[in-house]
Amino acid sequence: MVNCENILFDLDGTLVNTQKAFKFWHDKARAYLSETLGILPSDLETRFNRYLKDSRRVAFVEPYRLISLTLQSLSHAYPGVDNSIWLHAKDLLWQVYSHPVEPYDEVDSVIHALVKDNYNLGIVTQSGKTWTEQVKMARLKINKHLVHGRCFCAPTHVPKDKFTWLNGAYFYGFNPEVTAVVGDNLIDDANAAQSAEFALCCWLNRANEDNWFFDNRHQKRDQVSEVTNLWVFLELVRRGRDLNPR
Ligand SMILES: [Mg+2]
Repeated sequence: MVNCENILFDLDGTLVNTQKAFKFWHDKARAYLSETLGILPSDLETRFNRYLKDSRRVAFVEPYRLISLTLQSLSHAYPGVDNSIWLHAKDLLWQVYSHPVEPYDEVDSVIHALVKDNYNLGIVTQSGKTWTEQVKMARLKINKHLVHGRCFCAPTHVPKDKFTWLNGAYFYGFNPEVTAVVGDNLIDDANAAQSAEFALCCWLNRANEDNWFFDNRHQKRDQVSEVTNLWVFLELVRRGRDLNPR
């Protein structure tokens, strides 16, 4: 196990919590549609979730496209519905991405522990149109601890991959061989970082709550470590340092 000097975090779902906002607006859109279309919310829920799940599995699309595709599929299932209804539903779902976001409860303490242990910290994010919001949120408590004091923001029109992580490392001046990566997305974060041969690649799987889109555990690579919270990640990083002191 490598003694890491640097930590790269994913932002959305790892440090800041957008799931609450997602659920809130998702539920609102579903309630609106079931009321307007006169169908059972459970029927809509099944269609909604199945489509989100399928489209995430088939291709990693940006949020706006995902919303459009979901509603497009519904409009095929419910022909003859006025287009303004789909547009309003789209507006509701899009609110997810302009809603203010909050850091997870334990984030502060873990960041402080890492700073105290002299790790260099960075954030690599690919967070759509809300990145300014997220950077603002991150700045409140996290950005002052980051090398360069800011996030590395990747282009939003492509999925995050190994090059995103490598570019992020380059931006901060981190050598991947002594850098740990942690993110909540198995494919875009953990497996991608593993392809780029970062020293420690962690999949933060908070009791599946952040990965309810689809069960992707079978795609986990051997060298990827699954952690249920950031404290476990902190333990792993510290274990590497204890086993290989400099
Ligand atoms: Mg994420």
